[in-house]
Order: sequence, then C-alpha cells, then structure tokens
Amino acid sequence: MPKKAEKQPKKIPKAPVLKIPQLLRGFKDILPAEQNFWRFICQTAENFSLGYGFSRIDPPILEEAGLFVRSIGKQTDIVEKEMFTFNDVAQGMVVLRPEATASIARAYISHGMFNLPQPVKLFYWGPMFRRERPQSGRQRQFYQFGFEILGEANPVVDAQLIAIVSNFFNQIGLDQISLQVNSIGCPDCRKNFIEELVNYYRAKRKMLCEDCKNRLTKNPLRLLDCKQPSCQFIKASAPQIVDWLCENCKTHFMKVAEYLDSLNIFYKLNPYLVRGLDYYTRTVFEVWPTEKEEGSQSVLGGGGRYDGLVELLGGRPTPAVGVSLGVERIILQLKQKEVAIPSKKAPDVFLAQIGDAAKIKAFNLYERLRQENILVAESFAKDSLKSQLDSANKLKVKYALILGQKEVMDGTILIREMESGVQEIIDFKKTVAELKKKLNHNNHQTPVV
Ligand SMILES: [Zn+2]
Ligand SMILES: [Zn+2]
Repeated sequence: MPKKAEKQPKKIPKAPVLKIPQLLRGFKDILPAEQNFWRFICQTAENFSLGYGFSRIDPPILEEAGLFVRSIGKQTDIVEKEMFTFNDVAQGMVVLRPEATASIARAYISHGMFNLPQPVKLFYWGPMFRRERPQSGRQRQFYQFGFEILGEANPVVDAQLIAIVSNFFNQIGLDQISLQVNSIGCPDCRKNFIEELVNYYRAKRKMLCEDCKNRLTKNPLRLLDCKQPSCQFIKASAPQIVDWLCENCKTHFMKVAEYLDSLNIFYKLNPYLVRGLDYYTRTVFEVWPTEKEEGSQSVLGGGGRYDGLVELLGGRPTPAVGVSLGVERIILQLKQKEVAIPSKKAPDVFLAQIGDAAKIKAFNLYERLRQENILVAESFAKDSLKSQLDSANKLKVKYALILGQKEVMDGTILIREMESGVQEIIDFKKTVAELKKKLNHNNHQTPVV
C-alpha cells in the first residue's frame, strides 16, 4: 500500500515584490523640460537643410551587421566593441545603427540615386546606438543629424559643408567653436604616409602607451589620435600627412582652404586629425567647443570626404562628403555657455467657465479658438473660478475669457485683461474677432525680437 503523502503545512504565498522597471544604462528619457533645446536644434537644422537645398532621408534604425563592418572597418572601436548586434532568426546578424552615413550610402545604391541629377544632397536626424561607457554628453542611444552630398568630387562641396557647420553654430549662439581641418589623402598617397608613420613609431615602440602599441599594427593612422600625455612628444615630431599628399590630393585640399577663406570661415589646420572611421578620404574635419577643448568627449561633430564608400558597398564609384553633429553634446554646450534659446510659444488666453451650461459652451468655444490658431489654455475639469484664474496667472496669459451662467443666458462673454484686471463684456459671437484684434494690437506694441 502506498504510503499516504504526509500533509505539508500550507505555505503562505509571499506578496510579489514589484520591481519598478529601470532605464537601461546609457539610455534616457528626453523630458518635457528638455524639449525646448531639442526643438530649437531640430528646427534650426531643418531650416539649414532647406536653405542649402538638402532633402530629408530617414533610413531605418536596424540594418544588416555587414553594412557597418564593411564600411566603418573591422579594426575600429565601434565595430570591435560598441555595436548593438543581435542575431535575428530570419535575417541573421542585425545591428542598431551606430551612425547614419553607411545607411545613406546603402540607400543611395539601393534606390538608384545615381540616376538622379548629381550631387544628391541628403539631410538626416535620428537616434544612433553605441555600447560606450556612458558619461556626460555620451549616451548609448544618442541623436545625430547630418548633411551628406553624394556624387560630387569638386572641393567646393567640401568647403560648402564646412561652411554649413560653421554657420549653424553661429546661428545657434555657439560662436566659440573651433573647426579643425585636415586631409588624410587618397588610398594611394596614404599608403606611403602610413609606411613612413609606422617606421617612425616602430623605432619608438618601447615608449608608446599600450593603445598605441596596438594601433601600430591594427590602425596606424590612429596613432596620431592618441591623447596620452606620454605619447605627445613622440607625436610632435611624427611625419605629417600634408607632406605626403599626392598632387591631386594636395590641389584638392588647397582648393577647400581657398573656398573657405573666400567666405571668411575660420578654421585650424590640424595635421593630427585623422577621424576614427576607415571610409574617410581627403578632407576630414571636426568641431571642437573651443580651440582648447580637445578630446573625444567634447567633439560636437565631424565629417569628411568618403569617396570610396559607395563602391565599397557594391555601388559604382561615387565621390561623396558628409558631416554629422551630436545633439546631446550641442545641448550640453548651450547649457554650459548659458545661451538663451527661444522657448515654446505660450498661450495668450485662458478660457475659464463656471457652471454646467457654461462648461459645455466653453468646451465648444475652445475647439473654435484652436481652429483659429489662437493658443488657449484651460482647466475644464476644475469648477472654481478662483482656481482657474490661479492657473491663468501662473501661465502668465494676457487675457482670460470667462463664461458664467449669466453670460450663457445673455449670449455674452467676459474678457479680462490679466495685468490690469480690467474686464469687458462682449457679444459671445464676436469672441474670435475681438480676441484676434486684441492679440494683434498687443503684438504690434511689443516688437518681435
Ligand atoms: Zn592622394
Ligand atoms: Zn599613445
């Protein structure tokens, strides 16, 4: 006979501890209080894209991993350790895009944009993803916008792009920025330079930092990028790429400088500037917050020519040049430099109501005012006039419209000028016209700065 199962003491189920889901490391919410900055930069960038004849493109956020491995280069930090790569059951290795230029070159090929009149000028804005160590101004999801000009080899477009960047920063009030410009030549002349560079550094191998020892074999151009104090004196007498440029690259670079000078754009020739990505050729540039603020954390943006990229991805040879700018870092600078930025347009009018009939009438009037593009605030859920007028005061509106039982009966409405407290009763039907008159009058008195 089977032994009767022993009676277990009843377990008291523990109340589940609700853990509040947390933000992932390096990801953040862009809260309403921040949005003025975002709107300001986005609108300015879009105005620039219109003004300079760019069309917007929005490539997807998820792409084949191969796109970035091939374009950015295997030996770069981005591809080696910073990409958010996933294995998708159906599509293989996919990546949350770490930057947009490769996607745009892919789009240029896959949509046959080489058949369009050249150059093709594209503008983008959106989130990028890199698994970096989060720090000030650097998140794992960060926003970039940029301008790309595909299908043109003439140095005048390099200069125009640099001019756009310079003018953009002037426009948003960051006029202390420093534009650092260099040429890293074409694959032919760069090959000779790298040989020379490696020879020079190899002789000093023992004195190099660990990173530089690695760079020597993996990515020698980045030797010039080293920020370690111990490597600086070695860098100081390293061969400079400008001395190694072939005739065509030299002419190209001189032309870029000439066009920039003609626009009185200030820039600094920086022989150590190489940029981190493999696909750059000839002109490269970076935006630093000021002349002194070197270092990858503070670079506001950068770009350069990438004449080989489209071909590398399987398209026909297509010269191209582009720039990308980091939104979070620009915002950080705007805050640090205390630049005044325009705020969201605040409502001019508050619509208050007392009693059920008035509430319905006000509820409908609100829709009409909105259709007439009059910015109106309300708190329909509140009944007390005092609390509604308190809200109106807090919002600093110029006028309050007040609709009570008496006004509903009489077919009128009350307009109160908030500052003076002067009230006037008008015909309800004339609300929109009267309000527009008053607001326009007001606008003429205070010139728009
Ligand atoms: Zn060359
Ligand atoms: Zn070093």
